[in-house]
Amino acid sequence: MSRLRKAPEDIRERLQKILEVLQHRYPQASLALSYDNGFELLVAVMLSAQCTDERVNQVTGTLFKKYKSPEDYLQIAREQLEEEIRPTGFYRNKAKSLQDCCRVLVEQFGGEVPQDIEQLVQLPGVGRKTAAMVLGNAYGLHQGIAVDTHVSRVAQRVQLSSAKTVEKIERDLMQLVPRERWTWFSNAVILHGRETCTARKPRCTVCVIEPWCLFPEKNL
Ligand code: SF4
Repeated sequence: MSRLRKAPEDIRERLQKILEVLQHRYPQASLALSYDNGFELLVAVMLSAQCTDERVNQVTGTLFKKYKSPEDYLQIAREQLEEEIRPTGFYRNKAKSLQDCCRVLVEQFGGEVPQDIEQLVQLPGVGRKTAAMVLGNAYGLHQGIAVDTHVSRVAQRVQLSSAKTVEKIERDLMQLVPRERWTWFSNAVILHGRETCTARKPRCTVCVIEPWCLFPEKNL
């Protein structure tokens, strides 16, 4: 790939190229979290804050066998749940959020995960990132772009967004990326951020996006 190639300034032209190379690199990009349904994915994403997906999968491997529904999580003592999710870190806050969330699911949504982002973000402990991830991956509903630390960093470096908050970055990306690709895009960029555009030392020399990235501090 020629390093002399000039990065097109037009953001939509650059995005088109970025989508093409990411599609080639990550055609079936999906989450690394294990789940069998929307509720399990919701639990897994809530547990994944400040924790690796591998560790979450270890914990949920046992958890999901024992507890199948929001009602199940409400029937165990808080202390027991804390112990069971302890390896994921911040276990006291996570256990509280999980049970608070399950209580609202039972009381207001008949124990089902609402398939609407505005309703999902009303649940305790659920923000737009979690909601978009669950809706997109478990239900195939593209109602938002999950902007986690990787998506945020890559979008800013590549200069698909100059915004400073995840809300504004998501809004910028939603205007650029075709809606039917929102979920795949987020999953692919998360993988790209983990594997190549890493936080401390981006691997720009092997990056498929490099010709269309405007990051001024490329590691070439
Ligand atoms: S060229 Fe470097 S900074 Fe730009 S996306 Fe690739 S790894 Fe990240």
